[in-house]
Amino acid sequence: MSMNDTPQSTNFVQSIINEDLKANKNKGRVHTRFPPEPNGYLHIGHAKSICLNFGLAADNGGICNLRFDDTNPSKEDVEYVDSIQADVKWLGFDWDERMFYASDYFDKIYAYTIELIRAGRAYVCDLSAQEIKEYRGTLTEPGQESPYRNRSIEENLDLFTRMKAGEFADGSRVLRAKIDMASPNINMRDPVLYRILRATHHRTGDKWCIYPMYDYAHPLSDAIENITHSVCTLEFADHRPLYDWTLDMVDYSAEADGRPQQIEFARLNLTHTVMSKRKLRELVENGYVNGWDDPRMPTISGLRRRGYTPESIRDFCERIGVAKRDSIVDIALLEHCIREDLNMRAPRVMAVLEPVKVILDNYPEDQVEWFKAENNPENPDMGTRQIPFSRELYIEREDFMEDPPKKFFRLSPGKEIRLKSAYIIKCERVIKDEQTGAILELHCSYDPESRSGGATSGRKIKGTSHWVSAAHAIKAEVRLYDHLFLHEKPDDEEDGLDYKAKLNPDSLRELTSCLVEPSVSGAKPGCRYQFMRQGYFCVDPLDVNESRLVFNRIVSLRDTWAKIMKANGSGTEA
Ligand code: ATP
Ligand code: MG
Repeated sequence: MSMNDTPQSTNFVQSIINEDLKANKNKGRVHTRFPPEPNGYLHIGHAKSICLNFGLAADNGGICNLRFDDTNPSKEDVEYVDSIQADVKWLGFDWDERMFYASDYFDKIYAYTIELIRAGRAYVCDLSAQEIKEYRGTLTEPGQESPYRNRSIEENLDLFTRMKAGEFADGSRVLRAKIDMASPNINMRDPVLYRILRATHHRTGDKWCIYPMYDYAHPLSDAIENITHSVCTLEFADHRPLYDWTLDMVDYSAEADGRPQQIEFARLNLTHTVMSKRKLRELVENGYVNGWDDPRMPTISGLRRRGYTPESIRDFCERIGVAKRDSIVDIALLEHCIREDLNMRAPRVMAVLEPVKVILDNYPEDQVEWFKAENNPENPDMGTRQIPFSRELYIEREDFMEDPPKKFFRLSPGKEIRLKSAYIIKCERVIKDEQTGAILELHCSYDPESRSGGATSGRKIKGTSHWVSAAHAIKAEVRLYDHLFLHEKPDDEEDGLDYKAKLNPDSLRELTSCLVEPSVSGAKPGCRYQFMRQGYFCVDPLDVNESRLVFNRIVSLRDTWAKIMKANGSGTEA
C-alpha cells in the first residue's frame, strides 16, 4: 500500500534511500522496521514512525518488520504487545509474517558477545552503578578507567559465563564494551552491554538473568533481520557511534548481506498534550484519565475510541513531514485532518444536546410531516433521508435568550428563526418554573407558508436552528472533549509546575439528556456523524448496550487550523 501521493524526494530519509539505490547499496534492498518497546500503548508520535517506516518500504518496493524491543523485562507486558499489534493493523499497515522480538535473538546476541570478549573488546566490571557513573566523567572532563578494565580474556569469559549461569547477584557486575574512557562522546566511554536482572520475561520466562542493553541489542537485532535503514528519533544521534562500533566489532555476515544504517529524524511533539510513555502511564495509573484508550489521550487507541479514522491520522503524518530538527505541531492540524476526512463521509443529522421544549400552538395536534433532507450537501451520492416534524419539538437551549443582546440572531420573545429544512417559527410566550425561573416551554407559532415552495419561503431570516421532533427523537448521552492540558506545552517545566498541575479540569463534559433525530436509531458502535452546528461525533465503541446510545465528540466544527492558515495567507497545507 502506498501512503504517498507526493514525490518520493519529499523527505530527507527518502533522499538517502535514493542515493543508496543509485549506488546499489545493500543490493538495492530497502528493509525497515518499526521497533516499539512493549512498555505502554502506542501514541500519535509512534504513528509518525509507523507511517515513515512502513511508508518508506512500500514506496521503494521494500518490506518493513514489526519488532518488539523487549530487552527490559521489568517494565514490559503482553497487554502492550497485543495492543501494539492491534494499533499498527488499525492504522492500515501489515508486517505479513515478519513479527519479531529482540528476545528471539538473546541466544545469538549472547554468542556474538562471547566473540566480542574473545576479541578483547568487552570486559566484566565489578563497579557498582554509582561508581560507574562517577568514573564516567562529564562533558568537559574525560572519564577514568575501571580497575577491572584489564582483566584477561579468560577471566572475562569465565565471569560472563557465570553471570549467565546466575552465580552473581543483580547489579553486582556488568559486561562493558572496551572502547575509550576519554571519548568526547560519553556513550562511548565503555558503555554497559549486559546487566544482571532477575525478572521474569514475558517471552523467555526465567531462562535469562542477564539482559543486553538496548543500545547493544538494537544494532544486532537490525543486523540479524538484515535491516538496511534503521530509522529512529533524534535522541539516538549521540548513540550512533556505538551502533556503528557494535556492527564493526561483530561479524554478522552469516545473517546479513548488507549493513544497517541508523538515520535519525525529529520526533513528533503536539501542543496541549504529553507524549512520553512514562507520563501517559502515570496519567492512566493515577486515574487522571479513564485508561490508555480514554478519548482524550494521544494514544492510537484513544484516538480510535474518540472516532478518529486511520486515514486522517495517516494524512496528518504525511502533512507534518519528516525533519531533522525538533519542533512542536499544533494539535489544531490533527483536528483539521479529521474534519477534512469526515466532511466528505459523515452524514449530517440533527441532535439537540441541551434541549428546551418548543410547542407550536397553531400546528395541528396529531399531524406529522416528513421532510426530505440531504445526508451530506458536500457529497450528493450519500442521498437523502426523511425527518419527522410535529407540534412539539426541541431546540438547543442556547438558541433561545429571553433578553438577547443586539447581535443575537436566534430565538427570543417576539422574534423569528428558521428551523433547518422546515418552517419559520416565532416565539410568542415563555413558560417558566415559578420557583426556579428555569424555562420549561417556549410557545411559538409557525408560518405554514415558509417551507420551500410555500408563498413566504423566501423570507429572509437571520438565524437557523437545528431541532428534533419530541415524539420521534431518540435519547442519547454525549461526551464533549477538550484538550487534556490547558497549556500548549505541559512538558515545559520552566514555570516550575509539574505537567499534572496543568491538566484541563474541563477536558470532559458529559451530557446525559441529549436528543437525536430518529434516522440514527440502530447506529452501530464506531458510526460517525456530523451533528449540525455541533461537530463530528462517533458512537462510543465500548459503552454500548441496547438501552444506551453514547456519542463521543471527535471535534467541533470550528476549524482553528484553517483560520491560522488563512491569516498566514497560505492554503490548508502544513
Ligand atoms: P517514549 O519516549 O514515549 O517512551 P520511546 O521512544 O521509548 O517513547 P519506543 O517504543 O521505543 O518508545 O518507540 C518505538 C519507535 O517509535 C522508536 O523508533 C521511536 O523512535 C519512535 N517514536 C517514539 N516516540 C516518537 C515520537 N514522538 N515521534 C516519532 N517517533 C517516535
Ligand atoms: Mg525507546
